[in-house]
Amino acid sequence: MKLEKVVTGVYFLPGEDEFMPDSHVYLIGEPDSHDLTLVDAGLFGKGKKKVQALKDAGIELKDIKRIIMTHTHLDHIGALKEIKERIPNLELWVHRLEAEQLESGDERTVYGMEMFRQMFQMQFGIRPGEFRFKVDRKLEGGEDLNLGGMKWRVIHVPGHSMGSIALYNPHKMILISGDVVYADYSIGRFDLFGASGEKLKESLYLLARLKVRILLPGHNRIVKNVEHDYILKTATQWEPYLV
Ligand SMILES: [Zn+2]
Ligand SMILES: [Zn+2]
Repeated sequence: MKLEKVVTGVYFLPGEDEFMPDSHVYLIGEPDSHDLTLVDAGLFGKGKKKVQALKDAGIELKDIKRIIMTHTHLDHIGALKEIKERIPNLELWVHRLEAEQLESGDERTVYGMEMFRQMFQMQFGIRPGEFRFKVDRKLEGGEDLNLGGMKWRVIHVPGHSMGSIALYNPHKMILISGDVVYADYSIGRFDLFGASGEKLKESLYLLARLKVRILLPGHNRIVKNVEHDYILKTATQWEPYLV
């Protein structure tokens, strides 16, 4: 696992899928800002490796001030505890709808469905209550965040999960899309707890209004030269299924 540069101020640790998907982790912030932000944590059990990869890349862990979750499925939040243990004072920022669940210990979004909860708890030996976290900032969508000298807009994009967010940098036209839209005209599943095909459709059309040159999804390949109207085409293709 190696930290890769997307552009100055945006770096990425590719997820390491084995029998379970592991989300990508992005690191954002101008290199000299000493104010860095992680986006997503990755799968349960992968945290130690991810922090090591950040150190190997020369990142000072004390410069990492916060982690923003695109959403709280297990493949994104699973490694959070391991990462928080290694990066002191790391703030956790999550959309309000999923933040409330994390704070109350409601793990339905984390596991997505009851069958997965049983399977994952058995597979990894995860105990109930493992994903109870205090959230330092609850996002609503619409915020313009200044993260390490870069402007990132928070966009609430429910559908894959109820508190999914995307982060958009208008200057460099970069979209961190979580599991809402991926490369190659694929989109996130919409059958898990809190998901909605109808809302996913609206979210895709909302994202389609942005000028996007670089697409940084939660899984699979990243795209550095997004074609014109890519998200609109993706939304149009999927629209008949999104009810
Ligand atoms: Zn997801
Ligand atoms: Zn995912």
